[in-house]
Amino acid sequence: MSKPIVAVVGRPNVGKSTLFNRLAGERISIVQDTPGVTRDRIYADVEWLNHKFTLIDTGGMEIGSEEIIQKQILQQAEIAIETADVILFVTDVKAGVTDDDRQVANKLRRTKKPVVLAVNKVDSVKRDTMDIYEFYELAIGDPMPISAGQALGLGDMLDEVVAHFPEESDHQEEDDAIKVAIIGKPNVGKSSLINRILGEDRLIVSNIPGTTRDAIDSPIEVDGQKYVFIDTAGMRRKSKIKEEIERFSIIRAVAAVERCDVAVLVIDANEGVTDQDTKIAGIAHERGKAAIIAVNKWDSIEKNDKTMNQYLKDIGNELAYMPYAPRVFISAQTGQRVNRLLEMIRTVNENHALRISTGVLNEVLIEATAMQQPPADKGRQLRLYYMTQVSVKPPTFVIFVNERELFHFSYRRYIENQLREAFGFMGTPIHFIVREKG
Ligand code: GDP
Ligand code: GDP
Repeated sequence: MSKPIVAVVGRPNVGKSTLFNRLAGERISIVQDTPGVTRDRIYADVEWLNHKFTLIDTGGMEIGSEEIIQKQILQQAEIAIETADVILFVTDVKAGVTDDDRQVANKLRRTKKPVVLAVNKVDSVKRDTMDIYEFYELAIGDPMPISAGQALGLGDMLDEVVAHFPEESDHQEEDDAIKVAIIGKPNVGKSSLINRILGEDRLIVSNIPGTTRDAIDSPIEVDGQKYVFIDTAGMRRKSKIKEEIERFSIIRAVAAVERCDVAVLVIDANEGVTDQDTKIAGIAHERGKAAIIAVNKWDSIEKNDKTMNQYLKDIGNELAYMPYAPRVFISAQTGQRVNRLLEMIRTVNENHALRISTGVLNEVLIEATAMQQPPADKGRQLRLYYMTQVSVKPPTFVIFVNERELFHFSYRRYIENQLREAFGFMGTPIHFIVREKG
């Protein structure tokens, strides 16, 4: 089930970051063990009442001349239109309505996406509501007075945001199709890969506009299996500022990964694994998606019998947190191993949804603990009593133990590896929930 995406837009200094941090609070996305993935706060998991959503801060650098800044603000609005389910447009009561606000509003009015207009810095409890009336001029609906600084009005604003979330049910008919996100930094060959896959007379219906999004997804069928490639059209729009390009590619990756079953991380063989690849891969890992690492442009490098192993070693080091993701060396240009990639997508998708019966699971657990004794600490020995699978996508297991603190990382890793050996969970992360049982 994909979580809705809410994108915060607005010109510099209206308080976007303050609002973002306020809403994200402690819940800034730092998920389990993704070492090496530095987190700049672009996205966060937020929960309001019974709604969970992903909050994206589109605001980036915002430096340079007036003209450059203006262009950036509009680009940010475009990104929001492309990727979000609901757009949160932030303005500033102290500055009043500015030209930049009007420009953003013009752009936002042209999308079908719901837009919530927040007027920030309304700090006093006796709010001077007169001041917010002028924001009706933007024709974005009722302005909502908030103070990100003082945490005022945020509840009403969030009520309005979640009221616009799409209903869960309209995804039903696609359900037998595997949703695939091709992710990676710019120029690694994502569009070429999608074109290569779609090009071979496999397109059943092209360019069906998404029902709830402006994005366009491409469905195909190969050997009786349906796939939907999540649109990455926006990737074509290029910015000149490096930080901006990076930020946009991360925002797009978050949006695509949120909706996918399987994420294919594309790496450029000419560059090897870069910091940005690590960040983007981390998004799929944190979200618990099935993942494949595709090294593209394999045609364009000089190779000998050691080259592939060297790449595998580097990937193993740089993406150490996702050893489960299979690797494949492809060329979008020549089509080399593109069929193999499609088969892999199918396999990892099945593994992501794999269910193991409790009986079989516990046989493996008994054998594993017999082969390697659970560790002891200060005279107390860890005991693993029982385990059961509670959900899929990703496979999630509850494991009952005598004392949680004794269940160290290394033994957890051991148990995970035993499960992987027994059931072949290639391509999917596995989550554990550890419970104490008296
Ligand atoms: P951004 O550029 O839109 O991300 O804006 P920031 O979050 O960096 O905020 C810009 C300035 O406005 C900072 O000095 C904040 O402290 C201030 N600010 C943010 N929210 C509020 C608020 O609710 N009330 C007041 N008075 N100041 C605020
Ligand atoms: P995107 O930004 O990730 O969508 O990348 P593109 O698909 O636009 O490709 C960027 C550049 O890499 C283009 O010039 C492509 O022709 C080139 N390219 C893509 N795939 C391959 C490949 O497999 N081999 C080679 N040699 N070049 C490729």
